[in-house]
Amino acid sequence: MEYHINTKCLQSGYEPGNGEPRVVPIIQSTTFKYDSAATLGKLFDLEEDGFFYTRLTNPTLSAVAAKIADLEGGVGAMLTSSGQAASMISITNICHAGDHVVCAAAIYGGTFNLFNKSLRELGIDFTFVLPDASEEEINAAFKENTRAVFIESVSNPSLDVADIETYAKLAHAHGVPLIVDNTFPTPVNFRPFEWGADIVTHSTTKYMDGHAVALGGVIVDSGNFDWTNGKFPMFTEPDESYHGVVYAEKFGRAAYITKATTHIMRDYGAQQSPQNAFLLNLGLETLFLRMERHCSNALAVANFLESNEQIEWVNYPGLKSSKYYERAKKYMPNGSCGVISFGVKGGREKAMQFMDALKLTKLVIHVADARTCALHPASTTHRQMNEKQLEECGVKPNLIRMSVGIEYIDDIISDIKQALAQLTDN
Ligand SMILES: *Cc1c(COP(=O)(O)O)cnc(C)c1O
Repeated sequence: MEYHINTKCLQSGYEPGNGEPRVVPIIQSTTFKYDSAATLGKLFDLEEDGFFYTRLTNPTLSAVAAKIADLEGGVGAMLTSSGQAASMISITNICHAGDHVVCAAAIYGGTFNLFNKSLRELGIDFTFVLPDASEEEINAAFKENTRAVFIESVSNPSLDVADIETYAKLAHAHGVPLIVDNTFPTPVNFRPFEWGADIVTHSTTKYMDGHAVALGGVIVDSGNFDWTNGKFPMFTEPDESYHGVVYAEKFGRAAYITKATTHIMRDYGAQQSPQNAFLLNLGLETLFLRMERHCSNALAVANFLESNEQIEWVNYPGLKSSKYYERAKKYMPNGSCGVISFGVKGGREKAMQFMDALKLTKLVIHVADARTCALHPASTTHRQMNEKQLEECGVKPNLIRMSVGIEYIDDIISDIKQALAQLTDN
């Protein structure tokens, strides 16, 4: 029986047996006991299923990963210690030194630094494609050694809605997978696999957790990409560190996510803790409910700001004035996310004064949790970028990113009103 995604948020991934805990338990154990050395040997050779060391996986992590795989409609998922680790592994699982990635320029600042500095230092090259690039321009970014395309479905913080179908078509024409960071809409509002994406990543630190308590990430595999097309020898040639296993042969549609776990997670060790996975699961249970409220509150705030004279511009894909309105309606008919951005008249300085005048809305380096918060990217998350890089990823100096929470809407708008009133007095 295929349940609605709202039901999956509560029920997927864990089926308690007779007399077992109703709630996914925290298995706070790094190790697992076996009766025979032969069984352990088989586990190490990937000949048998079973838990043996939490750095690879454990029952809590595995249940929560299975829930997220089901929410996205994938064949498998792997939790990671953070969204950063998910982004990194999504690439290093298939790219080596000398390989190249086509990447949307409108991405999270942390991901940009990871790719543009750290992965470049390891020899992986990136071409960053501007948000408004035409199909021809995106196509021109591909090279002989391109091995992946990476985009965000709704970009943080610029809220660009990517044309997923076009990116998927171009990636597949070049024989490489499309990886989509789906953190902002969450699978409740958008499921990239239904539009041709091959791999999905999330910072679960954001809406999925929803309470700002647990850092985490996840990689989900659609199972749809053909890794045997000659460009990905890591799936078709024997892995000597597992007695010669050939991932595409042995694991079929789950080759990518199995290799991410048994090879990359084994070696990098960027595992999520069972405690955090437990907290993430609590958040997931209410994800559907929360996303509805985040979206309706954000639309109300966006409409209020748009009609206010002290505001220079408002950017929210749910606004008719947004250049992404039609695209968002196509891909995310129930809403995109609770994040909006806007510019206060008077530039960077007035923007910072407005931030200081907020009361209910707290200034935090975070986004996408249940409580309303705001951030000035140019002076924080994106401060390492120069003016040109800022412009390329769509961050104006007066941009305020407001993450609209699930509080009572009148209270959120009152807070914005009083902060704007203080500016008039200056
Ligand atoms: C926050 C974020 C990340 C990084 O996640 P962490 O959990 O902070 O490591 C990656 N992508 C997007 C879109 C994000 O918002």
